[in-house]
Amino acid sequence: MGRKKTHEEFIQEVESLVKDEYSILGNYQGTTTKIKMKHNVCSHEYIVMPSSFLQGNRCPKCSKKASQRIISNLFKK
Ligand SMILES: [Zn+2]
Repeated sequence: MGRKKTHEEFIQEVESLVKDEYSILGNYQGTTTKIKMKHNVCSHEYIVMPSSFLQGNRCPKCSKKASQRIISNLFKK
């Protein structure tokens, strides 16, 4: 109801999306204030806007790897 989301609510939202795959290292200060996150699968720490994370933006290291895999699959064909 126009109320600002709290840090705890952000944590819960992230947990419901990715379980324990990501850790929130920074302090949540709003959807567009960048926050430090950690991808526990690859241990990569990075800074992301909460709003883009909630929209499906994930670990840049792994998404890069994933797109490289797609490209190499294309070349194999
Ligand atoms: Zn990762």
